[in-house]
Amino acid sequence: MYILISAIFILLIYTSWQYIDFLKSKRDSLVVSKHTVQALSMHKQVSSMILQKQKATVAMALSIACDRYLVENIKNNHIKKDYYKSLVAKFRENTLYKNIWIQIIDKDINSLYRSWSSKRGDNLSKIRQDLVNVAHTKKVAYSVSVGKFNLTIKAIVPLFMDEKFVGIIEVISHFNSISKELKKSNIDSVVVQKKDFKKQLLYPFTKIFIDNYYVANFDAPQEARDYLKENGIEKYFNNSYKIENGQIIVSYELKNKNEEPVGYYIMFKRIDTISNMDLDFFMFKWMALGIIVMMSIAIIVSTMLFFANRRQKQYFHNIINSATNIVLINNRKTLLDVNMIIFKYFDKYKTLEEFLAENECICDFFVEEDGYIQANMGDTKWVDYLVENQSKIHKMKVDIFGKIYYFSVSASKVLKEKNYYSIVLTDIMEQENYKKELEHLSVTDALTGIGNRRNFHQKMEEEIERAKRYQHSLSLIMFDIDFFKQVNDKHGHSVGDEVLIEYTKLIESLLREGDVFCRVGGEEFMIILPHASIVEAEKIAEKLRTKIESCQKVLPITMSFGVVEHILGEDIELIYKRVDNALYKAKERGRNIVVVG
Ligand code: GH3
Ligand code: MG
Ligand code: MG
Repeated sequence: MYILISAIFILLIYTSWQYIDFLKSKRDSLVVSKHTVQALSMHKQVSSMILQKQKATVAMALSIACDRYLVENIKNNHIKKDYYKSLVAKFRENTLYKNIWIQIIDKDINSLYRSWSSKRGDNLSKIRQDLVNVAHTKKVAYSVSVGKFNLTIKAIVPLFMDEKFVGIIEVISHFNSISKELKKSNIDSVVVQKKDFKKQLLYPFTKIFIDNYYVANFDAPQEARDYLKENGIEKYFNNSYKIENGQIIVSYELKNKNEEPVGYYIMFKRIDTISNMDLDFFMFKWMALGIIVMMSIAIIVSTMLFFANRRQKQYFHNIINSATNIVLINNRKTLLDVNMIIFKYFDKYKTLEEFLAENECICDFFVEEDGYIQANMGDTKWVDYLVENQSKIHKMKVDIFGKIYYFSVSASKVLKEKNYYSIVLTDIMEQENYKKELEHLSVTDALTGIGNRRNFHQKMEEEIERAKRYQHSLSLIMFDIDFFKQVNDKHGHSVGDEVLIEYTKLIESLLREGDVFCRVGGEEFMIILPHASIVEAEKIAEKLRTKIESCQKVLPITMSFGVVEHILGEDIELIYKRVDNALYKAKERGRNIVVVG
């Protein structure tokens, strides 16, 4: 049973372990896909922001393009400098875009006005293919491109007057506003221009480089720049993402109008700023489900074990109940189970609970007597003593509410690891009574019912010992019927027997309690008189003699008496000889007398 429980327990732990491992790997794979999603979203975010910014830049260019005054000025080749200065200032003031530059170009691609320089009148057709294209296609163009100053977002809008192409307005904006916007989502940005374009960059605006890569945004954090430099910036240019240093690093390729790569938008976002709520919920959900399943299994198994255990208990209970002996199941402290036989003896109770309500231990009923088991056998408790001495036969004498019972008792351990014992009590009342009967018969004279010669010897030995120990007097009377042979001869043996019986009764009635009366021969008797001196013994003998003489039961008879007092150190043989001598003398002196020896 314990092996089964342990096996199930280990299996449950192992399954839980495996399940947690499975959940962890599931979570890990979800984290990976979550990172992929995050990278994609950052990618999308930056691409849409760039597009948005391009379109906004176009919108600004278009708004200027609608200005009739501007077209007039281009036509007249006269651009009023302050007018555009204040226009740019207005844009900076009223839009999100703080870094705006404009250039006005005439139909022959001559620069008429630059907001960042006072240079004007130069022809750009050789160096600005994009402007030439717009002049040719007469269509709005926008792109990310590299200039002398910076990597920028440009919008180029053709200008018309009465449907006639008159020039171009170019609006240039910066990546700063995008990186600022991304910062709100905890994304740091480093916008770099490809190093191949370095020679075009005559006057770098931010003056920041990572190796030969120009950094186009002002707010590129130093930490991110250092990190890129340390790890080799080019490694981060592919479009997938990297998880490093607790952050997700995503790069987005910046392309010009001709779809040629011109730079990279590199974003950094700390992993811990990505919400894991959904993943945590996922874990919680499956963990909770796991716990519920495990608990259900545990409940089912324990219920099954409970019923199996109960069935087994019932089974064992039935077995011990079928025994004809009393069976007790004990631990060191108390009774755990009993069979019904016990209530034949303890008939006051019907159940073990009733018994235990009033008693702690069966040992409370033990009678303290030599030869029987006691609650404590020396330093050892009775149950332990029985277990340790299983080869011996032990007897138990119990006093159950005034009734004495005898049992033979044996005990053995039921469970080694727990201190559970089974104790079996076998009723030996019959044997004990029979034995006692035999013991009684062996020391009793069959004819008269008083002690026999053997009894005399036992008692005499005891009394000699006691007299010695307590130093009190001890006397002995021996007597014999006078001419008893003639009684038999005259009246028959059965009358002789009758005489023996009746006179024995008479003598017995005249003795004190404590005196021991035995028939030691055919018609020879002894009386042991503890505490009696020779004078007292002689008096008693004399009293007996006269009573016998005067008694007319069955037949008139007389008896002769020898009386002696025990001398200290004298053994049974010597005193017997002395008293026998005294009796002999009484016979010799004519019978029916008491002689003191
Ligand atoms: P005394 O003692 O006076 O010398 O003479 P006695 O006739 O009594 O002689 P003794 O003691 O030698 O005789 C013993 C007789 O007692 C012998 C026997 O017939 C008789 N006797 C012994 N045991 C029994 C008995 O159990 N029943 C009967 N009826 N007679 C017994
Ligand atoms: Mg005799
Ligand atoms: Mg005689």
